[in-house]
Amino acid sequence: MLGLLFLLLPVAMGYGWFMGRNSVKQNDHSAKQELSIKYSTGLNYLFSNQQDKAIDFLLEALKVEDDSVEAHFAMANLFRRRGELDRALKVHEHLVRQKHLPNSAKQQAVFELAKDFLSAGLYDRAEAMFHKLLKSKTYGLKSLTSLMQIYQSTKDWQQGIALKKAIAKTRDVKLLHALANFYCELATTALEQDKFIEVIELLDHALSHDPNSSRANWLMAQIYENHQQFNEACQCYKAIYEQDKEFFPDVIDKMFLCYQKLDAEKAFFRFIRKVYDETGSTSALIKYLSYIEQVKGPHQAKQFILSALKRRPTIRGFKHFVKMQMDGTQSENTSENLEVIRELVTAYLNVKHRYSCRTCGFNSSTHYWSCPSCHDWEQLKPVRGLEGE
Ligand SMILES: [Zn+2]
Repeated sequence: MLGLLFLLLPVAMGYGWFMGRNSVKQNDHSAKQELSIKYSTGLNYLFSNQQDKAIDFLLEALKVEDDSVEAHFAMANLFRRRGELDRALKVHEHLVRQKHLPNSAKQQAVFELAKDFLSAGLYDRAEAMFHKLLKSKTYGLKSLTSLMQIYQSTKDWQQGIALKKAIAKTRDVKLLHALANFYCELATTALEQDKFIEVIELLDHALSHDPNSSRANWLMAQIYENHQQFNEACQCYKAIYEQDKEFFPDVIDKMFLCYQKLDAEKAFFRFIRKVYDETGSTSALIKYLSYIEQVKGPHQAKQFILSALKRRPTIRGFKHFVKMQMDGTQSENTSENLEVIRELVTAYLNVKHRYSCRTCGFNSSTHYWSCPSCHDWEQLKPVRGLEGE
């Protein structure tokens, strides 16, 4: 019954249109009669619950002319929202076939048909439709975005990169960001095969399209490290800090190893102190404490962490504080008690997620460059606040 009511909506719209037309074309009796027959036949099919036959008649009745187009789109969109894709497709295909429609309606029909194909998982057909609209003022950007989404789900990175000129023209930050990540995907494969020059070239492209791609610098640091070019790797890590302070805690340990190779630990700790002062990151704090302990002794280190935790308490910071207390105690009893606390805190942190997506809030213990939930690129970052950084 609900379906019947739903189908009556387009009929009502079509009827409204028909009456409007009718008042203008009072003399067009034969057309009026023909349409009336088709409407009543369509309605008969509706009432006998033969919806597909009803659509055929209603499509025929609503002869596509400029002022009936909106009724067609409304009908098809309702079908799509109800998940009846085959019916939405039928209406949109009918619209696409109409040669006399104005250009804007033609483009809208192609775009809507592409969306139907996309919803139905018919990627190749959706792709062909979106390609037709790349030069459209109204649908160009939307089509590019949809094409990049298709290539992301089919992992067809080269196809996405082939759109780089069109993407560059739009200057759309999200599209440029996606394009940079397509280059990063290819660079990841090249990195696995240790193709030094190819990796650098791909990542240069990535950074030229999106200078904020911390992933590009992350990958570049890996290839430089693999080739013992630690100075260059350090520059990449520093660039990541400038690009994305929230992601930076994840590269601190790797960065430290590079500075060690260069025998430049002091410079590293100067940098990490700056990071801690600017961001209050727990990872930076823990790293810096190892330096204070080494240079000024455990007492100074304990004082430092105490005042740091008072200012900005975090569970990870507290866990490190307990460990420092354990290392400093002579009493076996105290040590055992502290061990219990440390184990408890560790167990607590183990059930907490390390990363959260800044776009959709998806939580994960593993890092992904593309969020498994909303598919946004480079949005999974270490959790902030008491249970995170
Ligand atoms: Zn997400």
